[in-house]
Amino acid sequence: LPGPVLVSACLLGARCRYDGGDRRDPRVLAAVAGREVVPVCPEEAGGLGTPRPPCDLAGGDGAAVLDGRARVVTRSGDDATAAFVRGAGIAAEAALRAGARLAILKEGSPSCGREGVCAARLARLGLRVLHEGDLA
Ligand code: SF4
Repeated sequence: LPGPVLVSACLLGARCRYDGGDRRDPRVLAAVAGREVVPVCPEEAGGLGTPRPPCDLAGGDGAAVLDGRARVVTRSGDDATAAFVRGAGIAAEAALRAGARLAILKEGSPSCGREGVCAARLARLGLRVLHEGDLA
C-alpha cells in the first residue's frame, strides 16, 4: 500500500513503553525506509504518562473495549479504559489526517497488539494493520 505508514512509536526507538524503554526494531525500520512515517503512541496520546503501570485487557479484546463490552485495567486493578479509547481515537485521527492506509504496530500490547484497542480502532477505519512479526 502506498502512502504514509502509521507506526507504533516504540518500534521506531521512542522510549514510550510503560517501563520507559523502547522496542526499536530493525525489521520495521527497513520496512518503512523511504516512506513517510507517522509515529504514534496511543497510550501516551491518551494521557497515560511514561513510565506508567502495565495494563491488560479484561473481559474481551480491543474491539469489545471500543463497544463498551470489555475494559482495560492496570495490574493493580484501576480502570484505564477511557485513556485507551481516547488514545486509539487520537491515533485514528492522525491516520486520517495523514491519509495513512497501513499501520505497523507493536505486538503484545493492550493498545497496539493484535487484540489491542488501537489496532481494532485502526482496522475499523479500514487500515491494513500489520505487526513487526508479520515483516520478513
Ligand atoms: Fe509502543 Fe503502542 Fe505501547 Fe506506545 S502503546 S509504547 S506505541 S506498544
